[in-house]
Amino acid sequence: MVPMPQLTAVRGDITTQQVDAIVNAANSAMRGGGGVDGAIHRAGGPAVLEDCIARFPRGLATGDAGWTTAGDLPSRWVIHTVGPVYSEHSPSEARRLLQSAYRHSLLEAVRHQLRTVAFPSISTGVYGYPKEDATKAALEEVTTFLASEAGSALQLVVFCCFSEHDLAVYQRTAPIFFGAAL
Ligand code: ADP
Repeated sequence: MVPMPQLTAVRGDITTQQVDAIVNAANSAMRGGGGVDGAIHRAGGPAVLEDCIARFPRGLATGDAGWTTAGDLPSRWVIHTVGPVYSEHSPSEARRLLQSAYRHSLLEAVRHQLRTVAFPSISTGVYGYPKEDATKAALEEVTTFLASEAGSALQLVVFCCFSEHDLAVYQRTAPIFFGAAL
């Protein structure tokens, strides 16, 4: 029997996650940046940027995803995706683009036969996506993907929350997966 993919939320720094791939909330230039992007490039070392330059000479479109080496990170790969800048779109278009970023990241993972993937809360930092709405959109997309035939190849998807507050949002949004927030 094929095991059911697991979904979990943890509080932590994504650069320390022991998974096949961590997802980077990159920008479309794909040359590093602040927030989680900066943390991933710092921890991964110059090999990550070199691979970004080689593999994405023209960057990456919003809602799309692609992989690079993980350099010195404990994960094997980094899957880079570009979430929407919330203020640049209507709420429904921002949601569509955010869900596209999650879906394309998971498709990259499956395409490379990866089993375990960790996500940060894409677009909810400097890109300004309201956290509760982003969490609902992310959960809807990821659970739909995991329930699909493609998703059954994955073993574990981790939502890596940088703060207790972010973790509590996941727990409140989906206590069935993550337990009730205290
Ligand atoms: P974006 O530009 O997509 O908004 P940010 O990096 O500004 O990306 O923020 C995305 C989310 O990543 C935020 O919720 C932020 O708190 C979180 N974050 C920042 N650094 C880390 C990290 N090292 N590990 C996990 N999450 C992080």
